[in-house]
Amino acid sequence: MKYCMECGAELVLKECINFGLNEGEIPFCPVCSEFRFPMFNVAVSTIIFNKDFSKTLLIQQYGRKNNILVAGYVTKGENLAEALKREIKEETGLDVIDTKFNDSEYFEKSNSLICNFITRVGSEDFKLTEEVDYAAWYDLNTAKEVIYHNGLAESFLLKALEKIPQYVLR
Ligand SMILES: [Zn+2]
Repeated sequence: MKYCMECGAELVLKECINFGLNEGEIPFCPVCSEFRFPMFNVAVSTIIFNKDFSKTLLIQQYGRKNNILVAGYVTKGENLAEALKREIKEETGLDVIDTKFNDSEYFEKSNSLICNFITRVGSEDFKLTEEVDYAAWYDLNTAKEVIYHNGLAESFLLKALEKIPQYVLR
């Protein structure tokens, strides 16, 4: 962000002191005399599990053969849970039983904070929609092998799988 979104003036970097704490150099508009904190998108992504956490659903999109997670941008006015429910419904037709926060990462390429959740759905009977080319359920060991490697999807999946035993035993 180079210019002020209110008045168009060029932003300068200025030290930001908040309640006595130095937050570092933040873009500042000298005309409005306001800090203009950098903006970014918020997206949700989710590891979808069946009822007893024995299988996970991976999808393929955009004509690529990579097995990835259901994900999408949070639209203005939505909270994370609502965005998650909507994306799952749009991409798989499935209804959510419950959901838990898993992990989050900033993704430079799309300037997005991606919030990842562990979600359980009531039925394994998904319906492919226009947004999804292919989807399939995998047992958890196979999912680790077939997930698109070295991406955020894989690191989210591995973190989620570490947490699953405690949900199942609870
Ligand atoms: Zn301004």
